[in-house]
Amino acid sequence: MLLDPLTGYPFRTAPHDRLTERRDDQDFLDQAWADPASRVLVIRDGNLATEQSGQSLPTIKPSEAPVGERLLLGEVGGEVYFVVIAGDDLQADAANPARFEGLRHLAGVLDAPQAALAAHAVALSGWHARHPRCAVCGSVTQVAQAGATRRCPQCSATHFPRTDPAVIMLVTDDEDRCLLGHNATRAGRWFSTLAGFLEPGETLEQAVAREVLEESGVVVGEATYAGSQPWPFPSSLMVAFFAHATSTDISVDGVEITEARWFTRDEVARQVPAGELILPTTVSIAGALLTRWYGEALPARVAPRS
Ligand SMILES: [Zn+2]
Repeated sequence: MLLDPLTGYPFRTAPHDRLTERRDDQDFLDQAWADPASRVLVIRDGNLATEQSGQSLPTIKPSEAPVGERLLLGEVGGEVYFVVIAGDDLQADAANPARFEGLRHLAGVLDAPQAALAAHAVALSGWHARHPRCAVCGSVTQVAQAGATRRCPQCSATHFPRTDPAVIMLVTDDEDRCLLGHNATRAGRWFSTLAGFLEPGETLEQAVAREVLEESGVVVGEATYAGSQPWPFPSSLMVAFFAHATSTDISVDGVEITEARWFTRDEVARQVPAGELILPTTVSIAGALLTRWYGEALPARVAPRS
């Protein structure tokens, strides 16, 4: 069964042209870098330079970019975009804005094309930072293909950016209640959809069933694909499903998930405004899964009167 894709979450629309056919074209890359119409994002420690408002990415020409590894992102609106990985010693001046923000913040405020560029820049630069050496022979590798790969000068191995698929699923029962879990790393009354990483040799549907059983004790049958979201913290792809439970008894693992419960829509409508239940924001695909189940925008918490 195919569903209408989930909507209303970042990184889903307005992708840039990644110019995959240009990555080995040094003349094109040199011309693009010399073109004052090209644009450069600046990243430092995984955070992107923003305008002073923190609400958008600054317009920096290649000539204004700091020194650092240069990676090609692609083209949008006729402009070629690069990201430069700046060192910790980057000093703030007129050309290099002082404000840097993480992608979790930016995902909620950037427009769709900038959000797509930001996700690409964070995911790609983060991979380069964490994979400086060859996994085959241990030598220090070099950036290749305008940043799309790394190549080993010793054994000639090519290394591709890593993406770790994870499943995230909204489980419902025969009464159309939804199953939410409280993660041990979260405070208070925070509940969200269950999620977990795909294991080697496993299908996505198998991962859905395994993770739900491990985390909640609930058995699920059919799982239906609902959409996906890049989640570069540091390198995940969240693959979302709706899954139907064939059992309802709950037994949490007590380690990753310390509590799991079935929620009706009425309980969500009552408990969220009262502050008794805190749900994920619409920045993550979990919020989109919950919104689809709920049938309308999720209720907001009403601040208590002081
Ligand atoms: Zn090697």
